[in-house]
Amino acid sequence: MAKKFYVTTAIDYVNAEPHIGHAYQKIVADALARWHKLLGDEVRFLTGTDEHGKKVQNAAKAAGKSPKEFVDETSKKFKEAWKALNVIPNRFIRTTDKDHAKIVKEFIEKCEKKGDIYKGTYEGNYCVNCEAYVTEKDLVDGECPYHPGKKIEKISEESYFFKLSKYQNFLLDLYKKHPEFVLPDSRRNEIINRVKDGLNDLSITRTSFDWGIPFPLDKKHVTYVWFDALINYYTGEDGFWPADVHILGKDNTWFHTVYWPAMLKSAGYKLPKTTFNHGFLTFNGQKISKSLGNVISPVVLVEKYGADSIRYYALRHFPFANGDDGDFSEEVLVRRHNDELANKLGNLVSRVSNLAEKNGIAKCENKLLKKLKLKEIGKLIDNFEFDKALNLIFEFIDVCNEYVQSEKPWETKDKKVLYELVDSIKAVAILLWPFIPETSEKIAKGFGFKIDYKEIVKGIKVKRIKKSEILFKKI
Ligand SMILES: [Zn+2]
Repeated sequence: MAKKFYVTTAIDYVNAEPHIGHAYQKIVADALARWHKLLGDEVRFLTGTDEHGKKVQNAAKAAGKSPKEFVDETSKKFKEAWKALNVIPNRFIRTTDKDHAKIVKEFIEKCEKKGDIYKGTYEGNYCVNCEAYVTEKDLVDGECPYHPGKKIEKISEESYFFKLSKYQNFLLDLYKKHPEFVLPDSRRNEIINRVKDGLNDLSITRTSFDWGIPFPLDKKHVTYVWFDALINYYTGEDGFWPADVHILGKDNTWFHTVYWPAMLKSAGYKLPKTTFNHGFLTFNGQKISKSLGNVISPVVLVEKYGADSIRYYALRHFPFANGDDGDFSEEVLVRRHNDELANKLGNLVSRVSNLAEKNGIAKCENKLLKKLKLKEIGKLIDNFEFDKALNLIFEFIDVCNEYVQSEKPWETKDKKVLYELVDSIKAVAILLWPFIPETSEKIAKGFGFKIDYKEIVKGIKVKRIKKSEILFKKI
């Protein structure tokens, strides 16, 4: 039976426009999903949008739309952005989907049966201009970050609470027994220290707005944020629970590594194996924000550079596994596109396919292929070290280019050398599929092989090769 692999991304809040920061995470998740597909695993990949809450209700009102109209439009932008980047989930989940409301209801009922939900009073800092609570953490000098100089009120309302405090020891035990639950390591240490300080119970309903899932235990309340958004991973599982990895940004670490496992434990569900908490990208040296006006749609970037060049740059350039921040620079993207994709990969395929078309190939033992570090590449991908995996693949491309230079098949017309090169290009193209699927598929079509991990070590069967089209035009 095939192994199962379930990967999710964070769901994006529809009150913002999709940008390269969101895209980075989706590209990583898509590459992981494709890697497991390539290995023959049964794969589920879930992404989507978070669509409820006061801010969305207000934004819809400001745009003169109903909340439903508003979220239909904005979620579509995210969907289109991922499609342009060849990020292909099995399901694009929306928290306004009907099946999600049903799962949320069941989830809450299970926690209530466990005795983990009670009614109390929520007190918080309320910005009248935002018409929303501002968390202590988001206050800037005691003021709303969006409305400096305006009054912040302390207000209170009736709310239901989840007994998060009860799960302190359970969580500390989880991090100890399963350190891989919070990756990378640096993030885990932060979380352990904060959880050791103690946990407050979690307010999980509101009465001050109604754009949300009705709280099943009390019709006057709507379910607030975490008991809605986090549960999407369970709604979308389709027989794949528990998830192998939740990919998320470091701003979401606390919710996914503290609230979520406690909620799952309370409801009696298994825990995901890993949460990977990555760093943020700036764009051309600047923080990406609406107010700076530098939110560029990934669709626009794809039109400019092509999906594969963006995917390649995102996966090759940043050491994802460290969880560090990085800068998405168009200048560096272009340099890598030209130097690595066009000059190294593109030229190799074009040269070899051209010579193979003219001279044909003759099957032999492929000694060149022995220099491909296949096992190491697999290990690196499993460790989220996509940059290093791509580095090894491109080191092998260098070896192939050097082989062309030293063997001079354009003079010798040696069909065996050409066979080794064609067969090696096949291996490279298959391995590159998770990263740059469009290019990989183009090569596979031209050379006539299947994209399947098992094919890497099998000799290529085709006898006639046609000269390849240009894979990457220089920018
Ligand atoms: Zn405000």
